[in-house]
Amino acid sequence: MERTFVMVKPDGFRRGLVGEILARFERKGFRILALKALRIPRELAERHYAEHWEKPFFGSLVAFITSGPVVALVLEGPGAVAEVRKMVGATHPKDALPGTIRGDYATTIDENVIHASASLEDAQREIALFFRPEELL
Ligand code: ATP
Ligand code: MG
Repeated sequence: MERTFVMVKPDGFRRGLVGEILARFERKGFRILALKALRIPRELAERHYAEHWEKPFFGSLVAFITSGPVVALVLEGPGAVAEVRKMVGATHPKDALPGTIRGDYATTIDENVIHASASLEDAQREIALFFRPEELL
């Protein structure tokens, strides 16, 4: 069993895609261990995306992710980290296959609808950033 961290980004929330995205993970068979809607404070956004702080798009990435409500969740299931990344699709929607979330719902790299942890280590770090241990079911 693995746990991974997923976030419906502000564009996904604004476009009313939360239900559609949650349904995909539920139908696949992942267990929802935690779920909340929030506005991400700037400091949390900078810590979440700390690996990208030197990139030219860091400022716009933080501005975007703090631009409106998001839905954060923890999913549990066999191989959850890699399986969820597969369902999310490639970072750039032009490379994301049809049938993946980004392939079906996104067209641009800066507003690509959803985040999912890239590794087990990232998942543990990100879950701890967004949830207290007692919030996990
Ligand atoms: P995420 O971490 O959001 O799940 P990812 O792991 O697929 O996405 P990363 O390389 O971690 O991709 O990039 C984080 C986010 O930064 C991307 O989702 C995208 O919105 C943005 N991003 C990445 N590369 C670029 C780029 N070259 N130009 C603009 N934005 C970018
Ligand atoms: Mg990433």
